[in-house]
Amino acid sequence: MEKLYTELDEIYDEIVAIRRHLHENPELSFQETNTAKYIAEYQENLGHEVRKNVGGNGIVAFLRGDKPGPTVALRADFDALPIQEETDIPFRSKNDGVMHACGHDGHTAALLGLAKVLNGMKSELEGNVVFIHQHAEEVVPGGAKSMIEAGCLDGVDVIFGVHLQAQTPAGEVSYRIGPLHAAADFFEVKIQGKGGHGAYPHQTKDSIVIGSQLVGNLQQIISRKIDPLEPAVISIGTFEAVNANNVIADTALLKGTVRTYSNQVRNYIEKEMENVIASTCQLYHAEGKLDYRRGYPALITHEKETNFVAELAIDIPEVEAVKETEPSMGGEDYAYYLEKVKGTFMFVGAEYPNVKESYPHHHPKFDIDERALLISAKLLGKATIEYMKHGLRI
Ligand code: MN
Repeated sequence: MEKLYTELDEIYDEIVAIRRHLHENPELSFQETNTAKYIAEYQENLGHEVRKNVGGNGIVAFLRGDKPGPTVALRADFDALPIQEETDIPFRSKNDGVMHACGHDGHTAALLGLAKVLNGMKSELEGNVVFIHQHAEEVVPGGAKSMIEAGCLDGVDVIFGVHLQAQTPAGEVSYRIGPLHAAADFFEVKIQGKGGHGAYPHQTKDSIVIGSQLVGNLQQIISRKIDPLEPAVISIGTFEAVNANNVIADTALLKGTVRTYSNQVRNYIEKEMENVIASTCQLYHAEGKLDYRRGYPALITHEKETNFVAELAIDIPEVEAVKETEPSMGGEDYAYYLEKVKGTFMFVGAEYPNVKESYPHHHPKFDIDERALLISAKLLGKATIEYMKHGLRI
């Protein structure tokens, strides 16, 4: 069997140990200093050239192959979430209210294990590898953008990355050419009415009534103004206006998110929200203010690079199926890398076989089958070596 695979099999226990260490010691986005230190030390011990504090807590490690060739970037994120873990695994989080509930611990462990194996194969490597250990994927503005600005993609020819999928069976790899994750924006609407006594509504401008109309009117941007074949979502997650029973609300606050794929639709929704808010508030002679914040752009994978990795995935002994997947309305800041360089992003199934119930990402009982880490490392490693040898030809 191929050397890459046997070497990774040999250090599987170490990959699992790294993942469990990270899982026990999760850190929130933009606060991942110990995790960054751990990663930097591991990469330094391998003898790789390591850049620290890249665009924040980011770490970039560089492996130069003994033979000339292209530079392949591999990315793994390493931040955790503000969730209290409720699993009963022996290595559950030691940090109260913080949990690796998206599998970023697994991404990082797989990439560190692969770094070790590729280092051992340095004499055969026909090119270089840039290991992008990215902080803060979960919170806008994210770590990818600042790491790119700090030069993590300089000299990179192609980028590959994976995300574990807790509700897809381990052994399944999935891919999609084109749109994979939506653009994820966030907004707040502040309604300034005029408060007063609940018995005398005519003397007030009721912010709750205005807000209620606004919730409905904003939904109609999607249902009446956007082509039904275009994916688009407006969701309001907060409606805040707390007063006594007999008090009419002076102000109300709405908070929500917008998800889109096309830039045209994204721009249109932002503009139309302004219009809907202004005209709804005007009906009641009140003021409405929209604060619209752009989050991650849509993640669009590149065709040739995606086909390339999808075709070689089936070669991995543990991979039983390679499937095309549906686009998701979730956001992922890996999108920024693909705006700059060619590459792809794939999903690696991590659900235990015959499990009674599996939990989604960001759930307090989120768990992964660690065999998916080995598959992730093999997939990224195989893509790297094949790309160095033949480019996009298989
Ligand atoms: Mn994630």
